[in-house]
Amino acid sequence: LAERVQSAIEKIARKGRIDKETLEKGLREIKLALLEADVNYKIVSDFIKDVREKALGAEVVKGVNPAQQLVKIVYDELVEALGGEAAKLDLKGKPAVILLIGLQGSGKTTTAAKLGAYLKKQGKKVLLTSADVYRPAAMLQLKKLGDKIGVPVFLMEEEKDAVKIAEKALEKAKSEGYDVLIIDTAGRLHIDEELLDEARRIRERVNPNETLFVIDSMTGQESVNIAKAFNDAVGMTGIILTKMDSDARGGVALSVKGVTGKPIKFAGTGEKIEDFEPFHPDRVASRILGMGDIVSLVEKAQEVIDEKKALSLQEKILSGEFTLEDFREQLRMIRKLGPLHQILSMIPGLGSQKMLKQLQQVIDEKKLKRIEAIIDSMTPEERRNHAIINASRKRRIARGSGTTVKEVDELLRQFAQAKMAMKQMRKMQKKLAKKGGRF
Ligand code: GDP
Ligand code: MG
Repeated sequence: LAERVQSAIEKIARKGRIDKETLEKGLREIKLALLEADVNYKIVSDFIKDVREKALGAEVVKGVNPAQQLVKIVYDELVEALGGEAAKLDLKGKPAVILLIGLQGSGKTTTAAKLGAYLKKQGKKVLLTSADVYRPAAMLQLKKLGDKIGVPVFLMEEEKDAVKIAEKALEKAKSEGYDVLIIDTAGRLHIDEELLDEARRIRERVNPNETLFVIDSMTGQESVNIAKAFNDAVGMTGIILTKMDSDARGGVALSVKGVTGKPIKFAGTGEKIEDFEPFHPDRVASRILGMGDIVSLVEKAQEVIDEKKALSLQEKILSGEFTLEDFREQLRMIRKLGPLHQILSMIPGLGSQKMLKQLQQVIDEKKLKRIEAIIDSMTPEERRNHAIINASRKRRIARGSGTTVKEVDELLRQFAQAKMAMKQMRKMQKKLAKKGGRF
């Protein structure tokens, strides 16, 4: 998908401005791409209509080329279509009940444990239960996960009625003062009337606060039908998208959200318990587009710093001639720009959590001032070539900045890490450039 969107945008970029004919061509490409990514056709049509209106009405912002502007319009529409802000859980009542439904293999049992650990961390007293009466191994799987995260698991291994298990678990949760009860259910490999009916009966009987539909982000074209079947037969209050660590682009998010109209509340991002987070529409939108929000970065930068500085810094990052002097300049800009995580998420190529974390470590907001002081205490030569900073120079710099040699060392190490991260970005940019684009 990313490639298609990119190539569509590149075509427009070459023209220099968005004329109607080029725009229509680009939109056609984007439409095909979204359809290919399993987005429901009606959602795609509405989406394209909105983008068209906005693109035609948009004034060309100085310093941003029309292609970048179209990216921003497409991006904003995607974020909106994916649901704006990350949705919260309804945890009213004692216990609040959360029912997980979905096909076998979608990740329900894993998600039950992830959600349990997530809520436990927020200080909630959580009880897990498995209403999967078809596979003894499923109960055992949940039990193991529960033990691992230190959350009790209520099981009735001999019981063959899933509704009864859910009822008994609710009784126990009530009488023992649990805050949250999470009910894992059975799944089949395909939509199955008996299974849907069982889930519906559980829902009717325990009246959960949340019925969360769990779906694998690699499901593909079928996702629309599966989501619709569960929504019609059982009903749901929200969606959890699993396996976002796969190379699936996230088209499933758009299509499931679109066909059910229900908010996507969480995303599973790996097999481990902690690979779980509130769903961020903005991140998935970036991912569907396959690039960070370069336009926002440029625009925001324009607001607080002059365009020339921003561009020259960008060029330096891209060319690899990045020195401590530029690093200091960048730190100053970042301080002016606002919340760090927001800025980082806008830099193209930083889509991956790993790299974000890496950079966040490098640039800890609280440390920024001390780092600036250290760099201030260097000679211009040292700033341009950090390799010459030996032990005696480090001592002098530490004295001059009122810090320690250890802190100077750490800064140099972090700077090296930042350069590495930029190198990775550059590689990505080169790869894209080879395909003929600007991004
Ligand atoms: P269930 O049949 O719906 O209960 O699915 P399971 O919870 O048993 O998960 C099926 C498989 O998917 C297991 O191997 C899980 O480890 C894996 N899985 C679940 N969530 C994720 C995720 O977010 N990322 C990855 N990579 N694997 C996941
Ligand atoms: Mg299971």
